[in-house]
Amino acid sequence: MVHLFEEEALARAKELDAQRASGKTMGKLHGVVVTLKEVICYKDHPVSASSRMLENVIAPYHATAIQQLLSEDAIIIGTVSCDEFAMGSSNENSCFGPVRNALDPDRVPGGSSGGSAVAVQAGLCMVSLGSDTGGSVRQPADFCGIVGMKPTYGRVSRHGLIAYGSSFDQIGVLSNNVEDAAKVLEVIAGKDEYDATVSSMPVPKYDQLMHAEVPVKPRIGYFKEMLAHPALDPEIRMKLENFLAQLQNDGYPVVALDFPLLEYIVPTYYVLTTAEASSNLSRYDGIRYGYQAASNPEDLNAFYALNRSEGFGKEVKKRIMLGTFVLSAGYFDAYYTKAQQVRRLLLDASNRVFNEVDFLCMPVSPTTAFKIGEKTTDPIEMYLADIFTVYANLVGIPAMALPLFQHTNGLPFGLQLHGRHFDEAGLFALAQQWMTRYC
Ligand code: GLN
Repeated sequence: MVHLFEEEALARAKELDAQRASGKTMGKLHGVVVTLKEVICYKDHPVSASSRMLENVIAPYHATAIQQLLSEDAIIIGTVSCDEFAMGSSNENSCFGPVRNALDPDRVPGGSSGGSAVAVQAGLCMVSLGSDTGGSVRQPADFCGIVGMKPTYGRVSRHGLIAYGSSFDQIGVLSNNVEDAAKVLEVIAGKDEYDATVSSMPVPKYDQLMHAEVPVKPRIGYFKEMLAHPALDPEIRMKLENFLAQLQNDGYPVVALDFPLLEYIVPTYYVLTTAEASSNLSRYDGIRYGYQAASNPEDLNAFYALNRSEGFGKEVKKRIMLGTFVLSAGYFDAYYTKAQQVRRLLLDASNRVFNEVDFLCMPVSPTTAFKIGEKTTDPIEMYLADIFTVYANLVGIPAMALPLFQHTNGLPFGLQLHGRHFDEAGLFALAQQWMTRYC
């Protein structure tokens, strides 16, 4: 935990106890103990994005999701570390140092919401809010053996979430079980005048709907190229293949689908998110808030440069440079426009896929939790760890990581379930059935 709000959390718990004793109506999340990834604004509390750049910054307002949690009587007990500005897959890029997996302290918890995953895994809280731009809720959930839920793009307001890639970012939930994720999403989802990209579609009663029996067995698709990918751990592949066979045995129509665009998804993701990040992070100059270098610069430009060079970590600077490059006049069409075109093709293909099937199954990560330091010297290998998760963010669909399996190396891993845009209710119902039947 980066910041623990002990006294105020205890005081709030007392207040809530008194409220319950007096027989007053209780909020949907009465007394639920929550932690927050350090990228979500909780008014009057620190929000650093795990970056030196924002180390002493205090949130001036509530993120909409936080406002909603509090109005349903949740107790926020603290904030947890993450990769700096949510950029990373291992929680090693944090100004507070690496987060360790509670099952094995030599291993990473995944990233970027690694602190959130460990806080739930280790029982420090009941649920944690994270953010997912390319897998940052699902992959750490997978590495820590818990549930991770990324909603449809536009289901939860991004107001008060520190931006990384604005057309990808969504606040998501890390929890011990599907039911908790459904309850929390029901509270934090919904329209918001502060976020023009959030949908005004009414929020279904996820908590009730998830218990509805699914009358017909939904059609389950999987991408052949994903299961055959050489980076996928053979044991994970085997377990998933067996699982699909079991589904078929149990009467689910299982459909093998072609996905010829697989090799483009990670490059497309990194071109577009670094472009958006370079623009989003240009606001941090250390003038009105944030890190200010100690030495005396000769002019304003030198001052900006110094603040940014010293305030941002290595990975963040790399991505800002990459993003600036793909947006630069000479390369814009070759990289940024091209990547947008691929994103469009992916969305069209995804819409066609969801005419054929109701849900998609895939791995969450190619491996189980790796060792701290194992991938830090090879950025391509680190970026490839996102191969199964970025798809949902590129096309905006909801996706969940479900901790169904255990590897012979003793570590947990799961299955990723994707649904149609805004079909979180269907996703929760199926996830709940599978967790009860197959776990
Ligand atoms: N690992 C991915 C990245 O580094 C995903 C991060 C995220 O979802 N915030 O961009």
